[in-house]
Amino acid sequence: MTKKLFYNGYIYTMDEKNPTVNNVLIENDKIIDFNTKIKDEYQLIDLNGQTLLPGFNDSHMHVLAYGMTLDMVDLNSVNSIEEMISAVQKFIEEKKPKENEWIFGRGWNQENFIEKRMPTRCDLDKISTSRPIVLTRTCGHLLTANSAALKKIDIDSDTYIDGGKIYLDDNENPNGIFAEKAMDLIYENMPPLSVEDIKNYLVKAGKMLRKKGITAVQTDDLDSANVDFQKVLQAYYELADENKLPIKFNLQLRLKTPEEINEFLKNNLITYYDDYLTLGPLKVLADGSLGARTAALRESYADEENQFGKLVYGKQKLYNLSEIALKNGMQIACHAIGDRTVALFIDIMERLQKRYGSGLRNRIIHCQITDYDLLNRMAELNLQADIQPPFTATDWTIVSKRIGKEREIGTYAWKTMFNLGINAAGGSDCPVESPNPIWGISCAVTRQDRDYNPAGGWQPWEKLTVQEALKLYTKNAAYNCFMDNQIGQIKKDYKADFVILDNNPFLTAEEEIRNIKVAAVSINGKVYWN
Ligand SMILES: [Zn+2]
Repeated sequence: MTKKLFYNGYIYTMDEKNPTVNNVLIENDKIIDFNTKIKDEYQLIDLNGQTLLPGFNDSHMHVLAYGMTLDMVDLNSVNSIEEMISAVQKFIEEKKPKENEWIFGRGWNQENFIEKRMPTRCDLDKISTSRPIVLTRTCGHLLTANSAALKKIDIDSDTYIDGGKIYLDDNENPNGIFAEKAMDLIYENMPPLSVEDIKNYLVKAGKMLRKKGITAVQTDDLDSANVDFQKVLQAYYELADENKLPIKFNLQLRLKTPEEINEFLKNNLITYYDDYLTLGPLKVLADGSLGARTAALRESYADEENQFGKLVYGKQKLYNLSEIALKNGMQIACHAIGDRTVALFIDIMERLQKRYGSGLRNRIIHCQITDYDLLNRMAELNLQADIQPPFTATDWTIVSKRIGKEREIGTYAWKTMFNLGINAAGGSDCPVESPNPIWGISCAVTRQDRDYNPAGGWQPWEKLTVQEALKLYTKNAAYNCFMDNQIGQIKKDYKADFVILDNNPFLTAEEEIRNIKVAAVSINGKVYWN
């Protein structure tokens, strides 16, 4: 087989012992040498002064949902309810969906609306009263449905959903807004996806991610109300068998009860399937989001009296679920945004790890509302974090509103995590945020939003260096999913997974990092140029 030599560029390895090299030699899927003399037999890949790094790895997102959003109305940049309505109208005019076909949109955020309120079914009815329309908030924890979608479900003002909320209007009728578990009422009526549909979405999304420099992704796709868990799993196995997975996938398994875990373990191996598919941690969804005030807090929300958010599981339930996982050698990745949830998970891990050890690198996904004491306990217990740097750009204006100035300090505390030795990995929670890792790196370094606000960065003492920000998406992400012996660094015998950038982030002004473009990626030695 031909050996390929990447040369004439900046090469950063993320390996502390050997941080930069002059060139990298690969054979088949592996790195075999560095700083080697050019030989005739090598295929030369001239980097032309560009920058080569280990391929980016997003430590928590939802690839299937992302694939589906590629077919939805994109509402991320609308600034009013009126604009949102015209975006949906334009989508219908352009795509000409069938008469009764459902229309989905995603990405609205009332904080960005001039009206400063959430849209209701009355707003959506202006688009259509016969065709079902469902528009999901940017966080994915809340949606608005129009009257046609509401007609498909059987609810009234007395309907109670455990773990969810149906919002009512002044006349006590459902106003079309559904939060958390109540969203399932809508999803259950959506047309179900076939294995073939799922495969198409995964491939489409995977190729988009590859263009953005992502060579590996850790994804939670196994729980959407209108998508059958087994079908998603089958889609992944089939794509792996057909060698059609565009990037490497590690599945975060959202199993909700001890029975589901046991059933899953009977039929699947929690480990390596092939280079492109590994089955990863148990994903536990333990609370909601800060934006929707569903993240569970120890003290009340500052902007809503006696509102503490919501734990998805009671203490004993979360304990039992965690114990089954650890007993079976399954890592736990727990979604926890509020400090009550973070504290509860830490308490449970403190008890359980005494019996089952701390070697599973159990993780807290999001880990936003914290204080020094909680983070310190995480470090002592060898608990890792999966953080989303783009959340700083989206949330910095609402954090103090939700929890007040005093509690704000100590939140989204990325630098403190590094200082304490917590292994923090970076991700996007896409489709909640854009999956572009360059944007994530920029957010981690600047802690500013798209308009460069606030000046100097939000809580600037928590800004990361470029090196640390790159580690989030390479070495540290590989560590959290136990792939650190094969990807995430440029090292001998590691997989030839790289990203090539048109500019060197170490030599770029902080505020220009966001403009860096991905020129190419290599996955197992296969090079894809943009
Ligand atoms: Zn998520």
